[in-house]
Amino acid sequence: MVQLFLPFIIFVSLFEMFLAMKEIRMVDLKSQYQKIKTAVDSSIAEVIENTEFINGSQVKNFQQNLENYLGVKHVIPCGNGTDALQIALMSLGLKAGDEVITSDFTFIATLEVIALLGLKPVIADVDPHTFNISVESLKKAVTPKTKAIIPVHLFGQCADMDAIMTIARKHSIAVVEDCAQAMGATYTYNGKPAHAGTIGDLGCTSFFPSKNLGCYGDGGAIMTNNDELAKMCRSIANHGMKVRYYHDHVGVNSRLDTIQAAVLNVKLQYLDEYNKSRQEAAAFYDTAFSSSDKLCVPSRNSQSTHIFHQYTLVLRGIDREALRTHLQHKGIPAMIYYPVPLHLQNAYKDLGYKEGDFPVTEQLCKSVISLPMHTELDTEQLEYITKSVLEFLS
Ligand SMILES: *Cc1c(COP(=O)(O)O)cnc(C)c1O
Repeated sequence: MVQLFLPFIIFVSLFEMFLAMKEIRMVDLKSQYQKIKTAVDSSIAEVIENTEFINGSQVKNFQQNLENYLGVKHVIPCGNGTDALQIALMSLGLKAGDEVITSDFTFIATLEVIALLGLKPVIADVDPHTFNISVESLKKAVTPKTKAIIPVHLFGQCADMDAIMTIARKHSIAVVEDCAQAMGATYTYNGKPAHAGTIGDLGCTSFFPSKNLGCYGDGGAIMTNNDELAKMCRSIANHGMKVRYYHDHVGVNSRLDTIQAAVLNVKLQYLDEYNKSRQEAAAFYDTAFSSSDKLCVPSRNSQSTHIFHQYTLVLRGIDREALRTHLQHKGIPAMIYYPVPLHLQNAYKDLGYKEGDFPVTEQLCKSVISLPMHTELDTEQLEYITKSVLEFLS
């Protein structure tokens, strides 16, 4: 009897839960803002009162605050994460045709800036467990023309920096870390924990609102311990000048807006707490899903913390679209990061890659799904989400 009614009971209880619950979003910036509203509002108001819109004191403050937080010598704020990558690559003084290696399974920005600068993008496959650049594939991609590697710390966990730095140092290759998804993550490098973005020659990040450290518009930064590279990046970001109206390099115009710096000065104080909330939500998901043989929960690189920019499952023998539709009907958003490997993107056909070149990424693009992940998920929401996923599997 109970057997017969069980599906119905589950259905009713899930439905009741849904009615009482706060709306589930992939990222809930609104609830987060409500908790820090007074501080953010007054920080923004200060910028407006002082009409310090461009390179105001909050930008300088944020630069120092972030340098202190990361334990890095130089932070160079800029307009967004893609600019950060472009400026960092420009600072290395590479020539047309020099090769730059990056990961196949990521957002387009890394590949895009390599191509825009007339450099040759070279793609490497990823590790099936951590989703970060595969050291084996990276080794195969290195040639005498390789001048830089851009590892991406995907979804909040650092790439295998020990191995990457060893390869890079051996061949005199620069390393530009893309830590847009891993601000606050640490990696044990040479026996000591170092923040993502401070291990390679340069680190690049984005303050896009949904990132772990996000502002309320666009923003980005470059970090480095190298004084010369810091000077170059600062100059390039400012039209290639050090002295006003004397231009030493071809540069760009890329600034962190003072209002965004004002938001970041507040949010940086909460970054560790925010990352901890994400880790707690991830632990909840892990516990609920790890016994299922159809769901592969995110694995951890033992040298890196994972700060869960995304919580991404790999599905085994499950119809992904059907699961997504099922969740959608329950008011639960889910996203596919990323549906197409970089080597198969239309815009980059000229690179000459084809289907089958990077099988791990190709398989991941077909089988990953990311669940809601942010700082404001409560137990009720997490229970509802996990039950709804498991209900689909049963
Ligand atoms: C968001 C992101 C970027 C680009 O940042 P923007 O600020 O949007 O330019 C670059 N790389 C990765 C891995 C990202 O997630």
